[in-house]
Amino acid sequence: MEKRRLFSEIVTKGRFPEDLLNKIDSSESELSIDINNECNLHCKHCYWGITKLHKEPLSLDEIKQLIDRAIDSGTKLFAFAGREPFLTDRIIHVLRYIKEKKKDNNIKYGVVSNGTRVSGYVDALKELDLDYIDISIDGTREIHDKIRRDGAYDAATGALKQIINGNVVRKVFVSMCYNKLNSATFFEAIDDLAEKGVTNFCILPYIHSERGSPELKITFDDFLSFLRQLEHYSPKKPVEIMIDLEWYMIPSVKMMLDEGVMNLERVKEDAAGNLYTKIENANCKIYVKFGFVDLNRFVVTADGYFGNIHMKSNNDYYLTASGNVREKDILEMIPKTINASVHLFNRSLQKMNKEITITSLS
Ligand code: SF4
Repeated sequence: MEKRRLFSEIVTKGRFPEDLLNKIDSSESELSIDINNECNLHCKHCYWGITKLHKEPLSLDEIKQLIDRAIDSGTKLFAFAGREPFLTDRIIHVLRYIKEKKKDNNIKYGVVSNGTRVSGYVDALKELDLDYIDISIDGTREIHDKIRRDGAYDAATGALKQIINGNVVRKVFVSMCYNKLNSATFFEAIDDLAEKGVTNFCILPYIHSERGSPELKITFDDFLSFLRQLEHYSPKKPVEIMIDLEWYMIPSVKMMLDEGVMNLERVKEDAAGNLYTKIENANCKIYVKFGFVDLNRFVVTADGYFGNIHMKSNNDYYLTASGNVREKDILEMIPKTINASVHLFNRSLQKMNKEITITSLS
């Protein structure tokens, strides 16, 4: 697909060019599977809208069948998430199963976690051939605990140290949500984590939803000024930072172009088809990835509903889903999900204001 053309049309015209819809290649997709719908934290920035599952959670056997079918349907990258996947040992059983599948299939898999319960599973993880683990840390100890819960920082960084020192997985990411509360100490937090051995960071801007806390709210201007600071940031230890911009950040991309933080010639496509621009300083490589052109990223909720990531922000997710994996085949649901994403793009882009918010979706 002509991703660069898609990118420039979305950014300059503020609409998804529908004539490119039939050129979207969904033969190699990413699938995030929720292991559960429970979490042990109550973070101020949580966007999770599924307060009650609509159906019974998928059984372990049903998750295994889902993995099989997803591999047959072209899924190349699996992310096991949930609200928090390490609350029970179900995640270990799922990872043991997919590890067996890896032998005969060209797939990768990882886990996304808040990190607070990972320590108890480090020995088990050593045997599971994980391609990555993604642990969320939102700032210095003080800020992280203020956003998440007292003691959450020490629990998550303790697990990180065990994983890094024990060489437990191929790649360790720390995901950080940039917001008003952590903005003043954000670079200090990166330096602290780099000191503990973290080299890969994934930064997401805070997207305010009706459930989120207003004190965290940022504007597109705030985010642009963060990018400007990042251009001159020189960490104490070498790090790589990835900023993945979803559709709700399209106005910020427009601003980046207008303000000269980025130009279209510097937008590149890598071998895996990711569209990005790169900023490089002493000790720091920054990749701004334009994830909004990738419509082949799908999600299955803990009770089997298939759709895009945005469906999880609402409790009526089962109405916006493309179907349930218990009843429909994945290949049947993919085109419907892509169409729904494009519709969502266009509808939301027209409602954008200065704040970064997803309230316009409801
Ligand atoms: S942001 Fe993640 S860790 Fe925090 S309450 Fe929500 S699901 Fe749990």
